[in-house]
Amino acid sequence: MQETLQTAGYSIVPFEEGADLVIVNTCTVTSATDAQSRNLIRRARRFNAACRVVVTGCYAQVDPEALHELPGVSLVIGNEEKQRLLDFLRKAETESVLVEVSDIRQAESVCLPPLTSFAGRSRAFVQIQNGCDAFCSYCIIPYARGASRSARPDEVLQQVDALVASGYPEIVLTGIHIGGYGADLQPKLTLNKLVRQIELETGVRRLRLGSIEPTELTDELLATLAASSVACPHLHIPLQAGDDSVLQRMGRTYDRAFFAGLVRKVRAALPSAAICLDVITGFPGETEQEFTNAYDFIAELSISDLHVFPYSKRPGTPAASLPAQVPGNVSRERAERLRRLAAEKYRRFAESHLDRELEVVVESGSRGGLLKGISGNYLEILFPGAASLAGQCVTVRPVAWRDGALHAALVL
Ligand code: SF4
Repeated sequence: MQETLQTAGYSIVPFEEGADLVIVNTCTVTSATDAQSRNLIRRARRFNAACRVVVTGCYAQVDPEALHELPGVSLVIGNEEKQRLLDFLRKAETESVLVEVSDIRQAESVCLPPLTSFAGRSRAFVQIQNGCDAFCSYCIIPYARGASRSARPDEVLQQVDALVASGYPEIVLTGIHIGGYGADLQPKLTLNKLVRQIELETGVRRLRLGSIEPTELTDELLATLAASSVACPHLHIPLQAGDDSVLQRMGRTYDRAFFAGLVRKVRAALPSAAICLDVITGFPGETEQEFTNAYDFIAELSISDLHVFPYSKRPGTPAASLPAQVPGNVSRERAERLRRLAAEKYRRFAESHLDRELEVVVESGSRGGLLKGISGNYLEILFPGAASLAGQCVTVRPVAWRDGALHAALVL
């Protein structure tokens, strides 16, 4: 949206300067994010009482009425309508409050915007897929993003090449459900084939996969990642729960035995891979015993990190009306216990890389006078070096684990 507006002659100013036009791209994954979006709309008006506020994104998609009533909102557009932002801005000039939100479950394609840069980032993202058909019991995404659908491979290749030409050393393939890539295309395609095509037909230096569902991480894809010279050995897999009855209540379609086998397979194919899991604590009905089962299960897995989220009720999902909702303080305390386990796992994974050379992409900005680089296997590494290295690939050798971070020396 930023590139579209800039191309049309708008200039981007900091939020606090009180812009004439403010776009709030909302998230609706929990009721807390809804509240944050409403707060942002109010704050925009505090910086410039006369500004026009456009609201879009997932909250706008699932509850446009709640947003159109807020003072200052002049336009509410759904996720599909975002692509025609300029048309709707023009149309809104003659109407008091315009609401344009179509039925997203009818959307059949993904249109890649002609992006060439990601402000302030050293890695670029290509959204190859959108939507989801899984309807896990806690998740609003299928209602906010629609059915699973894929970008055309020629468009993906074109965008990867454009971003490579703009100087990005690393491209991340993202989506809601990237493991389902290509099932809706004619002829059908798979993520595995797309990854191979990107490696063969573009100049990408480093290619990373976004989060992938455990049941979609196929043997073929693992073999491709293992044989590739550009694919990062990094898998982000949503486990969500480590107890079989909780998994069942969540509507997930695998059990602990399947997941443990999958982690063993990934480790065998990619011995130094980062394996990061998402976990939710305090899902409705989660007993202390079920949580302990999950903790013990995760403690045994050969993984490098966890992203832990205390369950947060999302109105409109089946889980929101399940009995035995777990109190927030219990979910948060369980999340803290898992985060401590995650920190320990990450430290051990990081320390196993001491004295081993690693290629990192350098991020912009400094951390206490040091640069930060991200390795292919997703280690954050601090090292001394010139700020001009930002956005480049360099080789470093980790020398110490200190103050919760891996410190390295630049290899010249
Ligand atoms: S697979 Fe992921 S996006 Fe789809 S419903 Fe489940 S949690 Fe939500």
